[in-house]
Amino acid sequence: MNTQDYIALEEKYGANNYNPLNVVIDKAQGVWVYDVDGNKYMDCLAAYSAVNQGHCHPRIVKALKDQADKVTLTSRAFRNSQLPLFYEELAKLTGYEMILPMNSGAEAVETALKAARKWGYKIKGVEENKAEIIACTNNFAGRTITIISFSTEEQYKDGFGPLTPGFKIIEYGNTTALEEAITPNTVAFIVEPIQGEGGVIVPPEGYLKDTYEICKNNNVLYITDEIQSGLGRSGKLFAHQYEGITPDVVTIGKALSGGLYPVSAVLSNKEILGVFNPGDHGSTFGGNPLGAAVAVESLKVLTEENMIQNSFELGKYFREKLRTVNSKHVKEVRGKGLFIGVELFPEAKGARRFCEALQSKGILAKETHENVIRFAPPLIITKEEIDWAMERIEEVLLMD
Ligand SMILES: *Cc1c(COP(=O)(O)O)cnc(C)c1O
Repeated sequence: MNTQDYIALEEKYGANNYNPLNVVIDKAQGVWVYDVDGNKYMDCLAAYSAVNQGHCHPRIVKALKDQADKVTLTSRAFRNSQLPLFYEELAKLTGYEMILPMNSGAEAVETALKAARKWGYKIKGVEENKAEIIACTNNFAGRTITIISFSTEEQYKDGFGPLTPGFKIIEYGNTTALEEAITPNTVAFIVEPIQGEGGVIVPPEGYLKDTYEICKNNNVLYITDEIQSGLGRSGKLFAHQYEGITPDVVTIGKALSGGLYPVSAVLSNKEILGVFNPGDHGSTFGGNPLGAAVAVESLKVLTEENMIQNSFELGKYFREKLRTVNSKHVKEVRGKGLFIGVELFPEAKGARRFCEALQSKGILAKETHENVIRFAPPLIITKEEIDWAMERIEEVLLMD
């Protein structure tokens, strides 16, 4: 079977909820992926930052195989020998004292929202069913009905109502708007320290610190969604660390398993996650020993192999290189660490055609929000590999 055969088969049976580049990947290693026709590409998306550690990292693959031979799922009806080690690893790395494991990112966000509401009623003293949560324009936090209820992307909501009430939207990057939106019923503010799907948007300097202070002054929980920006992507363990804050709640996912298995988690403290009692919340697969073993190794690899520092340094190098390209199409190069957005002028007629041109030169990148090309390769990328990529990216950005 060749590329066309696979695509035809997929189109025949698959729901049409994605518009992928027409490359059929068959295997991968590190920053490189190979398609069914034997072509090789550099992966500059890294599965939306789920493979920060690089594809099929040998240590993580070994952890998965070893654990798969022992026990994979017990359900939380019984305890397993891997979950406690996962908790310990994550707590030591992040400094958070309580953790709730889930699978997908959306589930972690749902869990954080449930925790915030229950904290609001049981601890803050908000009247039953009155809790409000504030979110930002242009956010992305997943695809469940509750999460799309606070999306500002019309397409995400169209046809899926009735939506979940209890959310207020304010402009991303606007500190005053938060101050004005808070009421005695506000239980939480949820924010991406860098908006990923929104187009790699870095808020104004001081925004996180200032909004954090406002939340503290009003007894409102500060939730950062670090599912994409976290675990080294931004050049620090968490993107919120650039402003020296310690959010009350952090959601993580994606790279938590190095791309081998869905694992997500909510990090917080005992006052907040302590609101959950047995039966309040759960997941059949959440906290399973296979995911836990994979996550422990994924976290170890991230720090022991210096990937966060590499992201910081080479991200800076990559952005500087991108800024030297004298393209009439480029409006802005932005980002932190290896979380990079190249925004094109509307006259460039969309980022998609640039991504297709990159594909023909052996680089896989994905447009986000029409006019932005995102460059987010695995954090193990080398300077030489960035130089190789830049030769090709430059040619593409200089096309008509
Ligand atoms: C990807 C993402 C999610 C959702 O994660 P899924 O695993 O796709 O459910 C939530 N928040 C942010 C910021 C993300 O980038």
